[in-house]
Amino acid sequence: MILYMATNNAHKLDEIRLAMPGVDIRIPSDAGIDFDFPENEDSFLGNSTGKALALWRLVRAPVLADDSGLCVDALGGRPGVLSARYGSLDGVTPLGAVERNDLLLSEMAGVGERSCRFVCCMSLVMSPDRIFVAQETCEGELLKAPRGSGGFGYDPVVFLPGLGKSVAELGAREKNAVSHRGRAIARMAAVIDSLERMG
Ligand code: IMP
Repeated sequence: MILYMATNNAHKLDEIRLAMPGVDIRIPSDAGIDFDFPENEDSFLGNSTGKALALWRLVRAPVLADDSGLCVDALGGRPGVLSARYGSLDGVTPLGAVERNDLLLSEMAGVGERSCRFVCCMSLVMSPDRIFVAQETCEGELLKAPRGSGGFGYDPVVFLPGLGKSVAELGAREKNAVSHRGRAIARMAAVIDSLERMG
């Protein structure tokens, strides 16, 4: 199967290719397309499915898209779908990860209830009427200070009680095995496998 991935993020692409070795994964630029999708929906599902449908209309071939972020219960699920833009001064230009994490920890200063989760929604559009979705989570607790130097984004401020480490203290394979994106990719790889076997 040829599958277009609605991303230009090399890190995400590597993860997907590793999980789906039999699939010919391409990106919009392989089809000469400069793809950009405004993620303005109020849910991960809306953003990932909207993005996949928008690219499908351009390539007319199966498309996979994802949207992810961090939801903090004490903040009513924020930053959620706005995770990339959290704290941005103009609503577009993202803060650096260190500044963004500092801002989140200062907003949560003195708050005892620290449960949070990473969420990843993956949408596979075979055609506009044939859509498969997998949304997964990685449950954690917001730390009071950053820990660890691996990963990216919010990883240093999220602690995984089951492993006794922050996400930034995990190796890449260890993170893939428990992360929201790793789990959603595994579910989606199973869907794609069944589509390839049964049509
Ligand atoms: P997007 O899915 O690329 O739009 O990512 C949304 C935001 O969530 C980004 O700013 C990331 O920093 C953050 N994010 C998503 N997944 C992770 C993760 O696995 N670790 C840390 N931050 C993440």
